[in-house]
Amino acid sequence: MPTVFNWQLGREMSYPYEGGHPKRQFAFVFNLNRCIGCQTCTMACKSTWTFSKGQEFMWWNNVETKPYGGYPQWWDVKILKLLEEANGEPQRWDVAQRDEKKPYGVYQGNTIFEAAEKHIGPEPQRVLGYLPSDEEWRAPNIYEDNSTGYEGGKLGLSKEGASLPEHKTWFFYLARICNHCSYPACLAACPRQAIYKRPEDGIVLIDQQRCRGYRKCVAACPYKKAMYRPSTRVSEKCIACYPRIEGKDPESGGRPMETRCMAACIGQIRLQGLVKMNPDGTWAEDRYNPIYYLVKVAKVALPLYPQLGTAPNGFYMPPRWVPRRYLAQMFGPGADEAITKYLTPDRELVAVLQLFRKTNRIIFRYAIEEGPKVYETERNGKPFTLYNDTIIGYGEDGTELIRTQVEEPVHVRPAQHLNSI
Ligand code: SF4
Ligand code: SF4
Repeated sequence: MPTVFNWQLGREMSYPYEGGHPKRQFAFVFNLNRCIGCQTCTMACKSTWTFSKGQEFMWWNNVETKPYGGYPQWWDVKILKLLEEANGEPQRWDVAQRDEKKPYGVYQGNTIFEAAEKHIGPEPQRVLGYLPSDEEWRAPNIYEDNSTGYEGGKLGLSKEGASLPEHKTWFFYLARICNHCSYPACLAACPRQAIYKRPEDGIVLIDQQRCRGYRKCVAACPYKKAMYRPSTRVSEKCIACYPRIEGKDPESGGRPMETRCMAACIGQIRLQGLVKMNPDGTWAEDRYNPIYYLVKVAKVALPLYPQLGTAPNGFYMPPRWVPRRYLAQMFGPGADEAITKYLTPDRELVAVLQLFRKTNRIIFRYAIEEGPKVYETERNGKPFTLYNDTIIGYGEDGTELIRTQVEEPVHVRPAQHLNSI
């Protein structure tokens, strides 16, 4: 099998095809500290792309309640178990080797591609995976808001009710779409070569004419974001709202727009962009691209289960209240550093966080104009100063898209009468 460089693992890895990378890559950052599980993103996607016959159980965007929820049910528990069995141990990283090219150190285990190479069985596998049962696809947010486990009935609901142990409970919402991976497992597994990655933006698509519905992509995608449609007998997946990325949405004025799920986000957790790529699949330096800044400079946004090896292009700011061991399993060894930085953000990070959901056009560059000091305090034992800086987001052609401030203006309306609202 050829080898490719996976910067998220800090090493070369086996992949069924030679590495080929787009000029720029569709990527996004979700701040999980802010998601309120309202599912507006889920419905924005569903009402745009998956409202037809045969797509009833198809949720290209879903938001699941962790740790117990999942769509399809147990998707991450199952693939982690398979990988750990293949590796003979939980994930292991050599963090001492961390540097600019290997921001999380070097992953020591096998990926889902390498584990499949070692698989012994009647059928050769290109990717370690499994096909979920129909029942597992039944609900996009099963165990919604469940913060503790108990013996459940058929639907996972307790017949006796459950009491929650105080102060020991936690949960969070994990919003998910296809990661438009740099080394897609869906693409690697397809015997028809029906899946391709677009050279202009790295969006991963399934050619509906070539697909014969073998469901190898459904079994291979570790994130379970390739889905089978029984009415057409072919597979479908998130298309990253590519007409919007291309600036073809009637509303766009010809400018690249963020996807429907990003633009609809009530909690303002989402920021999407296009990052410049080097020919080896690493990110080209683009210091003032907000996605580049959050992932590569501030290092507050991390890939989801990087140990799987697909080099996902969705990055998450981990929820600060969740046990660190759980976060390390989910986001790799960068979780501690990301939370420390988020809890006491520096001046630039505070400003960049204001860009989330201030425009539905894609921001390619930002600039900060310094403003006055607002106050000084101490946060988590460290000095913290808040400045009312102005942050400006620019489009691809350098046009100013958005200008906002750290301190939101407060408008006090004059009272009309005693009960005036
Ligand atoms: S998340 Fe799954 S469906 Fe999407 S590109 Fe990666 S492997 Fe393919
Ligand atoms: S719209 Fe935003 S806040 Fe609401 S569930 Fe989706 S990601 Fe979370």
